[in-house]
Amino acid sequence: MMIYTESKTFRAMGTVNTIAVYQNHKDECLEAAVRKVRELHNKLSVYEMESEISRINSHAGESPVKISSDTMELLLMAKKYSAVSEGAFQATCRPLTALWHIGVKSGEVPSKGQIERAKALVSDDDLILDEKSGEAMLLRNGQGIDLGGIAKGFAADKAKQILEDGGVTEALINFGGTVSLIGSPRKIGIQHPRYDTGVSMGRLLVEKEAVVTSGDYERFFIRNGIRYAHILDPRTGAPAESGLCSVTVTGRSAAELDAVSTAIFVLGPQKGAALAERIGCGLILVTKELDVFVSENTAPRFVYYPHLKQEDGSAEQEAVS
Ligand code: ADP
Ligand code: MG
Repeated sequence: MMIYTESKTFRAMGTVNTIAVYQNHKDECLEAAVRKVRELHNKLSVYEMESEISRINSHAGESPVKISSDTMELLLMAKKYSAVSEGAFQATCRPLTALWHIGVKSGEVPSKGQIERAKALVSDDDLILDEKSGEAMLLRNGQGIDLGGIAKGFAADKAKQILEDGGVTEALINFGGTVSLIGSPRKIGIQHPRYDTGVSMGRLLVEKEAVVTSGDYERFFIRNGIRYAHILDPRTGAPAESGLCSVTVTGRSAAELDAVSTAIFVLGPQKGAALAERIGCGLILVTKELDVFVSENTAPRFVYYPHLKQEDGSAEQEAVS
């Protein structure tokens, strides 16, 4: 059987994104999905001066800002996962991400005083959302939102919705390792945290679900032998040191998984596994020693490549999370 594939690859949300539709005559809704992701990027990115998020940030401590229903929906979710993770996930982490600049500039370690000052501004409780008026506000001057930990997942969910509404029954969405599927089960590679991009440490059979990985290997810098990665611990104001180098979660909502994978990376193996169990997602953890932990609900569909650099394994996968 010939399967017609229409796919689009484009940059947005600070990464390379692909949407592949395995069906004929679906070009229009594929284009609509790409347009939606670009639109979300323009609303949500801290790197776009005119984005809704940048406007909330520049009005922090001053006045409420009118936001779209997409942004309201995402900010409500972000606050929810901040609460669910007991503060490990903080949408208001911008003062810290701006200070550390990890993955943006070649890094310098900030001073203790700088870290303390920035850390004191991080609090999702200070993000006030008024659903009736459609407005958002940060209470204190200097506060800021950075949705880098959840926006890609949210965009993947929105793209999926558009494809499904357009009658697509077979598709693969891959936004820089945030993978979401429509239709048949597929084998998704899980990126090996210490080998080149595209080399898997194992593969997972995924059906009508999303897979999201957070790791310390894409955006980081090394100073004096210490690896400083881009997920920050709001309690210390420094890169998370939970003993993990990668966290993969699977489930229905990519936005939820995105927030939760970031939170688990901060919380570490024990508290992280408890959080995954609470929300009912699948979990694969890799520790700094490269020990692998797989949750019970995921183990039957996960194939681990114990001899690690197995190029032959990746050939039978369609995407890597
Ligand atoms: P990736 O973008 O590589 O898929 P994540 O989803 O784990 O990785 O998100 C990391 C990004 O989330 C950081 O670059 C930063 O923008 C933001 N971030 C860092 N620490 C936190 C945190 N504790 N809570 C929420 N967002 C965070
Ligand atoms: Mg995330």
